[in-house]
Amino acid sequence: MNYPPLALHIAGRWVDRATGGECPVVNPADESTIASLPLAGAEELQAAAESAASGFALWRRRSAYERYSVLRKAAELMRQRAETIAHVLTLEQGKPLSEALREVRLSADLLDFQAEEGRRLYGRTVPPHAAGILSQTVVRQPVGPVAAFTAWNFPANLPTRKLASALAAGCSVVIKPAEETPGTCMLLVQAFLDAGVPPDAINMVCGQPATVSATLIAHPAIRKVSITGSVTVGKLLGEQAARHVKRFTGELGGHAPVIVCEDMCGSAPLDFVIRSSLAAKFRNAGQVCASPIRFYVPRQHMAAFAEPFVQGARALRMGAGLDPRTQMGPLTHVRRIEDMQRFVDDAVEGGARLLTGGHRVDRRGFFFEPTVLADAPPGARLMQTEPFGPIAVIQPYETLDEAIAAANALPYGLAAYAFTRDLHVAHRLSEEIEAGMVGINHFGVSQAEMPFGGWKESGVGQEMGAEGLLHYTDLKTITVGAVA
Ligand code: NAD
Repeated sequence: MNYPPLALHIAGRWVDRATGGECPVVNPADESTIASLPLAGAEELQAAAESAASGFALWRRRSAYERYSVLRKAAELMRQRAETIAHVLTLEQGKPLSEALREVRLSADLLDFQAEEGRRLYGRTVPPHAAGILSQTVVRQPVGPVAAFTAWNFPANLPTRKLASALAAGCSVVIKPAEETPGTCMLLVQAFLDAGVPPDAINMVCGQPATVSATLIAHPAIRKVSITGSVTVGKLLGEQAARHVKRFTGELGGHAPVIVCEDMCGSAPLDFVIRSSLAAKFRNAGQVCASPIRFYVPRQHMAAFAEPFVQGARALRMGAGLDPRTQMGPLTHVRRIEDMQRFVDDAVEGGARLLTGGHRVDRRGFFFEPTVLADAPPGARLMQTEPFGPIAVIQPYETLDEAIAAANALPYGLAAYAFTRDLHVAHRLSEEIEAGMVGINHFGVSQAEMPFGGWKESGVGQEMGAEGLLHYTDLKTITVGAVA
């Protein structure tokens, strides 16, 4: 199976040349160039926004049931094509093929859920304040054409979240996937088109990110901006959207803490905590917004936690995602490797203990060792900024109050986790932890049926769940009086 030739979808057709030039797409497992990506210039960006306006006029008129039928068909096509899509995803992003396949299938599931929710976009009736009013209703209508920007770490899931909710609500979309991983998005867009989404209702562009965002967000046709990405870029796009009073959703970075409670530090429960933590930490080489980063462990149990955790990290088999024996693939681009090294060096200089890893692997591809540190000073960059890679840090605590305060100390609040069998402690942690998603005794906070979103600087709004769709609608109050 080969990587496909790349094209952008603009104004109803696929274009393999564009005025913004081109850039290479690289396989992170061996650093080879696998394709050339056309980049949209000003001309194509304008055309994409205008096309989205025409697409919106068509798509919004379809009944909710028709939209549902088309989107369910798109989900079915994604399932039928899952192996091909997953193969392309692994080639451009690096994760093990089994993880890529799971990502594509879960994307189809979340599309199904959003399609269903599109049929339940209920309004309400309001009793009139005065006599002579026949009816008063509050309805939800699609917000309009959406400019959507996505990161490269989940090349199927992130674009699907946006396309699913926007299209189910009746909006059209111009989607800009990350330039590192455009092939997966291209295959998703094809599935939507084959299922019957009007070609103008779905545009896909890549380009110079800052030019694409500035052009699309300022374009009068675009009514909503949605980004999944870093806090820095989220703030930038949020400011641009605010300047034009456009709706904004930001699914941004996190810095997830894990509080391991005293009652879990016996050997059998600790084994459970460590096995689940290793799987969650090194999934997708730690390039997950909800990835656990800071492990808070009672001081007297530090060694009991750290030793098996380190052994587990050392035992992970690294390799190309297409090799079925691989448990952890490469990082997606070379900049991530350089950044990992800076995180480690800075923490060690500040006095942290490096327990394992900490270096680029001496082979072709962007491989960085699974890395575990302990006792990092609170001022270390690692303790302040999301590493977004295979780095974990284990920190001791004395009291639960102290652990909760440390967990909440950063300006981020995406996901947080805790392990305890004590009902009262679980309740206290779920109440007091400042995060959009709290996982007690497991890491599965991302599910099609539940809203996914961050508190504080980790984001604005949610995706998935029944709430995901609402962010692609505006409210309208309608009051009808009798003619005298
Ligand atoms: P990024 O912010 O660099 O890029 C995100 C998107 O914005 C991409 O499409 C990118 O091309 C574009 N972009 C980059 N620079 C831009 C600029 N100057 N102007 C306009 N657009 C620009 O993020 P990334 O490195 O691709 O992804 C990693 C980040 O995404 C991490 O912080 C991670 O936590 C976050 N993330 C969040 C979620 C979530 O649901 N909360 C999910 C996945 C990833």
